[in-house]
Amino acid sequence: MSIITRFAPSPTGYLHAGNYRTALFAYIFSHQHDGAFILRIEDTDKERSKKEYEDNIIDSLNWLGLKYDKMERQSDRADVHAQYIKKLIDSGYAYISNEIERREAAGEVVDPAKKAGRDTVIRFKNPNKKVIFEDLIRGRIEFDTTELGDFVIARSLNEPVFHLAVVIDDAEEGITHIIRGEDHISNTPRHILLYEALGFPIPRYAHIPLLLSTDRSKLSKRKGALPITEYRQRGYVPQAVINYLALLGWHPSDDREILTLPEIIKDFSLERVQKSGAIFDEEKLLWFNREYIAKLSDEEFSTYAETFIPEWLHTHSEQFKKLIPVLREKISTFGDIQKLFDVNGELAFIHNISSYDSNMLLWKKNPDPSIAKKHLEESSTILTNLTQTEFTADAVKSALWPYAEANGKGDVLWPLRVALTGQERSPDPFTSASLIGREESLLRIATAIKKLS
Ligand code: GLU
Repeated sequence: MSIITRFAPSPTGYLHAGNYRTALFAYIFSHQHDGAFILRIEDTDKERSKKEYEDNIIDSLNWLGLKYDKMERQSDRADVHAQYIKKLIDSGYAYISNEIERREAAGEVVDPAKKAGRDTVIRFKNPNKKVIFEDLIRGRIEFDTTELGDFVIARSLNEPVFHLAVVIDDAEEGITHIIRGEDHISNTPRHILLYEALGFPIPRYAHIPLLLSTDRSKLSKRKGALPITEYRQRGYVPQAVINYLALLGWHPSDDREILTLPEIIKDFSLERVQKSGAIFDEEKLLWFNREYIAKLSDEEFSTYAETFIPEWLHTHSEQFKKLIPVLREKISTFGDIQKLFDVNGELAFIHNISSYDSNMLLWKKNPDPSIAKKHLEESSTILTNLTQTEFTADAVKSALWPYAEANGKGDVLWPLRVALTGQERSPDPFTSASLIGREESLLRIATAIKKLS
């Protein structure tokens, strides 16, 4: 039997990490079995469904690299749904229910002027039996459907409710494994009754535990439930997000944490998905992102960084190349680059040195202007001997280090670093010098010397 799974989101809002983890598990499972993975947009709620949300779902799956083999829109299948509604009524499994009579029969006094809901709906004739199914994650589940009564399956002959539409579409698409959030577990007995009434083979179910925020409450707008595309905007590597999502509720049998999607597909098993809720921790996601940033080639790094670096840097490729290792060390997301180049950012000095107080040039343990001046003059002479091409951080360090060691590292390097950057915080003086280049370094040191005179 070929395996077919699906992701069946409702485009009624932006979907978050929890939704995409469900999509990921369904994707992984189908790929493990050379099966197919279908995207079905469940947009039958016309009032709440929006094109913008549907577009965001497609955009998100593309960004995450979760390719689907086919896409369907539930609203395109209204005719099919209507046929099945008719079939269920004709075969006696469902009936048109007069809701007013029904309520009156239940002892309610109905005022026809105050209508509550529709006069007629389609109800399923509940056989009132025990439904048992073997959930691939939660094991055997038993449910007495009597308490559901004759539940509503359509609002009219061509308006199925979720329970009926989902069953018809899953059956017609040949979905073999329904992998979805645990919040749907209580819907499953209804769905199984409908499968039986329609004569469809019943699929296997796997209900995956919900994602919780770090305080174990449900993910919400304020607690971690960001649209997944927000992570792209903040400069996350999609493979890092995928890696982390896969480990929410599942982990390989050894203690590896960094896993590519093919590696996950190889090792994943639904049976090893935990039953309890999984904690979604933004800090841990940042850790994964740092790990993935560290692994990127310089070319990949540049591509990700492109939209976040300041305008002027786009035309300074040599300078940017020198910056890559510095940035790699400092960022958790590519979005962090922006802060580094802000007016008060650690790397602001590269493009422009802002004015600073001459007192800043004095090393706190030896605040003597004449000493600072002398060391700056010496440093300048040493750096003059390097050519522009050899002006790397390593070369600058080798050139200055013996002098700094002989005369006190703080005494020599503090004024130099401030002279080069004009900032309280910045990279070390060697890196800073190499980032701004030989000429600019010498110029800035000369300015500092003047300030101290
Ligand atoms: N459209 C449903 C939802 O977004 C999914 C139904 C299902 O996966 O069976 O919750």
